[in-house]
Amino acid sequence: MQETLLIYKLLYKFPYRFLKRWSHEIVQYLVPSTKYAIKCPYPMAAEFIVVHNTANDASAMNEVSYMVRNNDKVSFHYAVDDREIVQGIPDDRNAWHAGDGENGPGNRKGLSVEICYSKSGGDRFKEAEKLAAKFIAYKLNEKDWGIDRVKKHQDFSGKYCPHRTLDMGWQRFLNMVQAELENLNEKKDGDKDKPSTWAQEAWDWAKSEGITDWTRPGDACTREEVITMIYRYHKRVVEDKSSQSAV
Ligand SMILES: [Zn+2]
Repeated sequence: MQETLLIYKLLYKFPYRFLKRWSHEIVQYLVPSTKYAIKCPYPMAAEFIVVHNTANDASAMNEVSYMVRNNDKVSFHYAVDDREIVQGIPDDRNAWHAGDGENGPGNRKGLSVEICYSKSGGDRFKEAEKLAAKFIAYKLNEKDWGIDRVKKHQDFSGKYCPHRTLDMGWQRFLNMVQAELENLNEKKDGDKDKPSTWAQEAWDWAKSEGITDWTRPGDACTREEVITMIYRYHKRVVEDKSSQSAV
């Protein structure tokens, strides 16, 4: 039973993260098309990303479900907290977030990202910022954009937003995005021989335990490779157990 639990944990934590990277954290809770006239009336080809802080202490899902539910002309594409990214407006529709009017570039050309928990700050805000930096880098990479495409709400209406991110340093946040972007671009350029920074600890562990053959950290796994890694881990657990009972 214990092995089953350990294998479950291994399956859940490692291959899941390795194979899916972080993308499993995106959840869609989209505004129904019946509310497009209020929330996102115009088609949009985004030209940049606009960063916000919620100035609230609600989770990403609560922010989005509240936005979708109410009938205010206020909307945003994504909310990010310390655990997940929730999308409320499709990428190809505009949203009302930048405070620069009906035809303002922020409202009509910007893909908006709200970072949660900025009211009280603390660890969960810092984690939300980290996940937002990863997500923004992913979007830049997807669209072949550079860091110059990352704007702040303040650039469009003068409002002091993203307030806590600005307090903590805007350039610091851009550097976080840049580091994630370089990581992704490396992968794009075909450098599969270096583990990603988020995977380094797990990779070193798997190497030291003989779970992998140490090669191709950036490659996808076949089913037989996944099973072989689980089997090696299983054998190690069984061996550990029998050596313990022999003592
Ligand atoms: Zn804002």
